[in-house]
Amino acid sequence: MAAKARDCRARVVLTRRLAPSILEADLSMVDPPALSFDAGQWISVPFGPKNVRAYTIASTPRIGAAITLCADVAPGGVGSQWFASLAAGDEVSFKGPLGGFVFDRADERRPVFIAEEIGIVPIRSMLIDLDEAAVARPATLIQWAPSPENLAYHDDFVALARRRPGFVYHPVVAENAGDAQAWGGTRGSLLDAVVRSAPTDARIVYVAGGEATIKRVREMFVARGLERKAVRWERFW
Ligand SMILES: Cc1cc2nc3c(=O)[nH]c(=O)nc-3n(C[C@H](O)[C@H](O)[C@H](O)COP(=O)(O)OP(=O)(O)OC[C@H]3O[C@@H](n4cnc5c(N)ncnc54)[C@H](O)[C@@H]3O)c2cc1C
Repeated sequence: MAAKARDCRARVVLTRRLAPSILEADLSMVDPPALSFDAGQWISVPFGPKNVRAYTIASTPRIGAAITLCADVAPGGVGSQWFASLAAGDEVSFKGPLGGFVFDRADERRPVFIAEEIGIVPIRSMLIDLDEAAVARPATLIQWAPSPENLAYHDDFVALARRRPGFVYHPVVAENAGDAQAWGGTRGSLLDAVVRSAPTDARIVYVAGGEATIKRVREMFVARGLERKAVRWERFW
């Protein structure tokens, strides 16, 4: 059963830069000493009355005493500024865990995971969680970012695809991503990549990112014959 959300405190242990605007923060739980959550859930950080920002837990529930958050700080608002300022030793107060964008292991339909930019965070937690639990299930991930360096966790997914034959990874970057970085992979839009690469027998979709993309992805799968509720989503913006 999903854990009930509660007020929590944690301490920042380490921060890392995954890309110029993508940062990770490792937090050590203080109260409670370990957070019980499902892969894909998020925490709510307060910034004054009725002003909160949500950050998804990028790590997996296996070690609840430490959680990792991952943020794209490009939006530049209060949440981004807070995340970018985090440093080892800082105390963080939040409410969590929250949200129902979680993988249902009892559902035997073939899943396709679709991530737009930082929408990869809940999907990363779900996929690594399945791997840690040795759940051998054919699954496809289509991840889109504006440039190769913004494909967060790309190396993890490449390694996962090598290790688990049933897992197929399709990274895609924008057509105009530039040639500064060597990228021999696919370029183009996320929607085109979904049309091309989503398996025709995919029956349950997990999509996270911006609202416009979620809507288009849903329309596409409904046109393929899926029920609307077979397209599960998390809207980040
Ligand atoms: C359930 C949920 C989980 C989330 N998990 C994460 C997470 O794990 N990591 C993360 O970085 N963000 C996550 N977000 C988004 C996050 O809560 C903030 O909205 C984001 O950090 C921007 O906050 P801000 O105060 O800097 O900018 P704001 O001033 O709040 O936003 C400025 C504008 O940017 C838009 N925006 C917000 N995020 C993005 C984005 N990534 N790309 C493009 N436009 C954007 C907003 O809709 C708004 O129009 C999540 C949101 C939700 C609802």
